[in-house]
Amino acid sequence: MQLNPDVPTHVCPNCCNNRAVVFYQVDQLPIHTVQLLRSRQEALDAPLGNITLGFCHTCGFITNLSFDPDTLQYNNNYDNTRRHSHTFSGFEKELAVYLVNRYALHGKTILEIGCGQGEFITTLCEIGNNVGVGFDPAFVRQRSSVGLTSQAGITFIQDVYSEKYANYRGDFVVCKMTLEHLPETAVFLNMMRRAIEPKANLELETILFFQVPNTRHLLNEVAFWDIHYEHCSYFTPASLGYLFRQHNLEILDLYTGFDDQYIMIEARPANGRLSTPHPNEEPLEELADDVVHFTKIYPQKLSYWRNAISEWRARGQKVVLWGAGSKSVSFLTTLGITTTHLKYVVDVNPRKIGTHIAGTGQKIISPQFLEIYRPDIVIVMNPIYQDEVRHTLYELDLTPQIIGV
Ligand SMILES: [Zn+2]
Repeated sequence: MQLNPDVPTHVCPNCCNNRAVVFYQVDQLPIHTVQLLRSRQEALDAPLGNITLGFCHTCGFITNLSFDPDTLQYNNNYDNTRRHSHTFSGFEKELAVYLVNRYALHGKTILEIGCGQGEFITTLCEIGNNVGVGFDPAFVRQRSSVGLTSQAGITFIQDVYSEKYANYRGDFVVCKMTLEHLPETAVFLNMMRRAIEPKANLELETILFFQVPNTRHLLNEVAFWDIHYEHCSYFTPASLGYLFRQHNLEILDLYTGFDDQYIMIEARPANGRLSTPHPNEEPLEELADDVVHFTKIYPQKLSYWRNAISEWRARGQKVVLWGAGSKSVSFLTTLGITTTHLKYVVDVNPRKIGTHIAGTGQKIISPQFLEIYRPDIVIVMNPIYQDEVRHTLYELDLTPQIIGV
């Protein structure tokens, strides 16, 4: 694609070409969005970072050029589990069954990089009678429901996966919702590729399965609440496919799921086989149009939400958000919505109840609290949970207006 020579360009960490151009800037977003913050003050004092998104005109990758990995700490206070949602755990179970069947994962060894509290690798091991090793610096045995009940055959290593663990070999390597947290995606894939290189004396051929958020969805929906400091890398099917092909991996499948919100890729070392683009990799021109669409509609979206929140307040209507994850943090901070305008965010994860939203300080409450608070409007941060939210409200005998973002 042609670039305007007057526009400054930056090096893309996905393809290493100097063809990334800035299209989005937002300053002072909380660095950590899913840490448990015990007081409002702690939430208001949460460290902030800037976001400067660059779009690469060679591979379609989007990166936060202002990202500083040294500011991030994935410690024990990090809680990103969504297993309390039926919608989410249903999706995970279905995916695990699909992968076990597709790759005949029975009596095999599975590795998971960024395994969280180990729910997914445990499901894969239980369904197929497999053994496995999960890596995650935020893994806490006491907190993991699987760490206590289902340790047979699964080892958890509370550390970031790196070169030093290359001696752990697996038939199947899972890496879900992790690559978007890594700034140097080409460096990481290069390490992975070397770690799974087939050994001459081994029959083992490792299959890779990666899942990342789908940035095409973000661009099309102008979902600015899906832009987080912790996510420094933003993929579409094209840039994910490009990355895998560049590292001599054959793409076995590339598809989206969870209402188009995630991209899944399945691959294996190409080793002589052709590593051709997958039909689901979109043309770069289409993607560039999506970026233009995002920048054009973004100011309108900001005005729409700011006006809506002000109007509801003027009418004395009580508004809550549903879902105290990263989406709420970006939504509230980008729009500058303080506790004066919106006091509470609902979540179904019991560990989050009573803690506060980073940056803007809203208190996180349980659905049951709504019986007392009786909101007029509930904004559901992820439309996929809308039915689940509606059902919960119905059971609580509440009938607020439900709005999706
Ligand atoms: Zn690139």
